[in-house]
Amino acid sequence: MGSGPPCVFCAIAKGEIPSHRIRESPRALAFLDVNPISWGHSLVIPKAHAADLTEVTPEDWAEVAELARWTALRLRKVLEVTGNNLFVSSGRSAEQSVRHLHIHVVPRREGDDLALQEWWEMKVQPTSPDELSKTAAVLREKA
Ligand SMILES: [Zn+2]
Repeated sequence: MGSGPPCVFCAIAKGEIPSHRIRESPRALAFLDVNPISWGHSLVIPKAHAADLTEVTPEDWAEVAELARWTALRLRKVLEVTGNNLFVSSGRSAEQSVRHLHIHVVPRREGDDLALQEWWEMKVQPTSPDELSKTAAVLREKA
């Protein structure tokens, strides 16, 4: 919005750039990712521009999340999908590529080789009950 480079997902939402649409609701749109990591990999976006989680309205987010749920179930029904991963990258440090909030709905099938659990286990950091208690207390404090 305003100055800055044009937003590709805004253009897709407005139909200015073609996309492989799956379903839309008044505030949200689901379409196929053109760089899928598995068959049926979809994206769900708010139609109104929001760069990331800091900008999206609760109303838009609710509709995007619900459309992502619908898309996940649809994939299971028609594309031999037995599980789903939903991913949101929010912010540059989270390696968000397109600066228009999106949920990746990634289809999973038995025996696929995405191996997320393997990667996750390599990234687990050491902690302690005391440290977890302190962190939770900070998070519970009123801002
Ligand atoms: Zn946008």
